[in-house]
Amino acid sequence: MYENPDGVMIGLEVHVQLNKLKTKIFCGCATDYHKDPPNSHVCPVCLGLPGSLPVINKKAVEAAIKVGLALNCRIEEYTQFYRKNYYYPDLPKGFQISQYDFPIASKGQIIIEGEDGELIVRITRAHLEEDPGRLVHEGTIDRSKYTLIDYNRSGMALLEIVSDPDLRSPKEARRYLDKLRNILEYLDVFDGDLEGALRVDANISIMGGQRAEIKNISSHKGAERALLFEIVRQKNVLRRGGVVVQETRHFDEAREITLSMRTKEEAHDYRYFPEPDLMPLKISGWAPEIKETLPELPDARRMRFVEQYGIMDDHAKALTSELKLAIFYEDVAKKVNPRMAAVWICDVLKGELNYRNLTIEAFRKEHMLSVIGLLASKKITEDGAVDIIRTLLDKGGSPEDIVKEKGLVIVEGDIVDIAALEALQENPQAVADYRAGKEKAMNSLVGAVMKK
Ligand code: ZN
Ligand code: MN
Repeated sequence: MYENPDGVMIGLEVHVQLNKLKTKIFCGCATDYHKDPPNSHVCPVCLGLPGSLPVINKKAVEAAIKVGLALNCRIEEYTQFYRKNYYYPDLPKGFQISQYDFPIASKGQIIIEGEDGELIVRITRAHLEEDPGRLVHEGTIDRSKYTLIDYNRSGMALLEIVSDPDLRSPKEARRYLDKLRNILEYLDVFDGDLEGALRVDANISIMGGQRAEIKNISSHKGAERALLFEIVRQKNVLRRGGVVVQETRHFDEAREITLSMRTKEEAHDYRYFPEPDLMPLKISGWAPEIKETLPELPDARRMRFVEQYGIMDDHAKALTSELKLAIFYEDVAKKVNPRMAAVWICDVLKGELNYRNLTIEAFRKEHMLSVIGLLASKKITEDGAVDIIRTLLDKGGSPEDIVKEKGLVIVEGDIVDIAALEALQENPQAVADYRAGKEKAMNSLVGAVMKK
């Protein structure tokens, strides 16, 4: 039973950019701007010019329903867009088109590995909105001399996924984010490697106090660090007899601290009202059809791997934690011993990749098949196989060439094997002694092998 000594309560709001859609949420601008110059993917709608009118991107609504279903949410019958009013330079029309009391999805859940076993994290809601432009601060946000604005991002479809405050530690928060990203990748609605694909706002309170909101954290590790810092900060405030105030804070990733930005605004500050340029959408009929198209999700795939390939649950968990890795494994497992494939991919290859900060894309499936084939036919030793994997990652080449170059082939009737066998046969007394528990008898056997 996890005690939660500091009474930590964390809820996360995650903004997911549906960046696999071809066009933005309310206009026809293309979404593949990431390598293009700033302000090159814009039009009157996503620049928020007066008189321009939004048109809903049907694919964005479908993607949002897909995510909602995968997160076990209820899909609303009707959904409605609202204007959330605030002025900020990245939002030149003075409001963000978002959702309010009729979000697309609500009341779902994600199961994660908590501090003390499985933890159900409730999903409050998931709603669509438009991404604002991107502000590029010169230097750090609190000291910058000027700020640049890029509107390429403006109008990208964002799905805001809000959790209940069910997370009890920064580690659980990170696991939640990992799991969410994992599910989203399986659903093929976003590419998590693109800049700004997933941004996190974290609410955290301790000991039943007021909550602070940390805005715009860009990585899972950043979220964990920011929350760790925030727990210490809030504890120190309480220890000095102070009160934690409800406010919005910024996480400075370089310095790993949070800074106060403004006191927290309430919903009524935004003057929400229905967006008059977009009709309410009746979506109740859409969900059943979309449900049919849902792919196998991480948990289901994990269980299937255990069942179908007879591998350990820990291996299955690691293998399904990234879609690309799961596909890599399954392609290999179909052609060789699947248990052997799990061991070599999880316990060896993954470690070597992590060590070099590489992803599974840096290693070819055919090479894994060759290495396992060589091992299975006892042509190389396990040390030799590790050597081949390392060499492939560091210098490239092919497993067969590396075996030749490095002389890794086991010679028929390996000389050490033969010597050991002979030593055993020639020293029956030492063998009997060792079997009887006299461990020192081993020394004389080793000596006999070395002599040969
Ligand atoms: Zn546009
Ligand atoms: Mn939002």
